[in-house]
Amino acid sequence: MHKHNNLKKWLCGAAIVGGSCLYLSQHSEFFTKTQEKDDSAQTITVPDRPEDAKKLIGYSMTDAFKYGVINSISDYVEQAPYKVDTTNFAGDFQNQVIEFGYYAEINGRKTVVLTHINPDTLSIPEASPFVKKMICKFAEFHNSQNERATILAHEFAHQATDPDKKIGSDIQLSQKTDRSIFEYNMTAEEFELICNHDEMRGRINGLLYKREQYKKYGKSSVFNGDYSFYGRALRSGKIDPFSTDPQEIANEQLFCVKSIREQYEREHIEHYEKYTIDRLSAEHVAFDPRKPDEYHKALDQVYTFIWDGQLVNMNFYSNGQLPELRLTDNEYDVAKAKDISDSSKCMPKNPKNIMSAALLLSKKDQSR
Ligand SMILES: [Zn+2]
Repeated sequence: MHKHNNLKKWLCGAAIVGGSCLYLSQHSEFFTKTQEKDDSAQTITVPDRPEDAKKLIGYSMTDAFKYGVINSISDYVEQAPYKVDTTNFAGDFQNQVIEFGYYAEINGRKTVVLTHINPDTLSIPEASPFVKKMICKFAEFHNSQNERATILAHEFAHQATDPDKKIGSDIQLSQKTDRSIFEYNMTAEEFELICNHDEMRGRINGLLYKREQYKKYGKSSVFNGDYSFYGRALRSGKIDPFSTDPQEIANEQLFCVKSIREQYEREHIEHYEKYTIDRLSAEHVAFDPRKPDEYHKALDQVYTFIWDGQLVNMNFYSNGQLPELRLTDNEYDVAKAKDISDSSKCMPKNPKNIMSAALLLSKKDQSR
């Protein structure tokens, strides 16, 4: 979801390619698949269908890149399908919540939706010409090609971490993402963190879209609104997106993730609180202490981006370069309550397991 979201719809969502740094290994001819019904767990091989690569457009930007169907975020934004929704706007900046875009299930399919803002000056004939002009300017700005593409880059980022399995079932490619980040074995607290990290992912992808535009057309004015910090850093020489020095590239990547995170924590996290809590209650599966915690795997997926013709992993959280995000008090309370109730429900009879469940509880008590 992008900005002013009332978060009634979710699926701002997510997926995994598994593991950390994701590199291209597009030439494997077969992938092995365990046949579930067969007790002997015999593995069968299913051949890749290279002609399916085009179907990755509309499924996952990351996968489409891996298979060489697109070579940039801009490329995907130009080609991938989405729907348009229209919202009337009559100048109620105070009370009207506008979702500029979202990723949600519509008629059984996860779909990226972009909002077209209709300046509704007809319903307020008494308004002053100044107000009417403001409304039109607002709509004009948000309907501009640059804003639309940035919102699409945000929403398509969600699609890649939470792709539609129904669409995916028709794609026979071994490196295809087949799990949503929301399906990983995580505690409730980690699930809420992932929801928030995925929102930051959307924002970072919007920034990286603008970065591509800047590198192509040279106009730093493309970094407007929430992204103006990048334009300032550019003009002051703090970052140089044309640099080929590995250290400078690493610094710029850290700068992007860190700046978006600071802004998100300062200005946006509360807008996503309801979404995060609703999604937790709808989708979170109780953490299974017998299985490995997959939170960091999910983070790797969240922070995988297309950057100058490569897939890069910008997860600076798992390696401690950035401290963990701080949830809102409500998010934290809800998650903690769910974790406690989940772990008491699955309290096993085996004494050894009781020990680990108890350890789990005490670990969580100290986590904040
Ligand atoms: Zn979003």
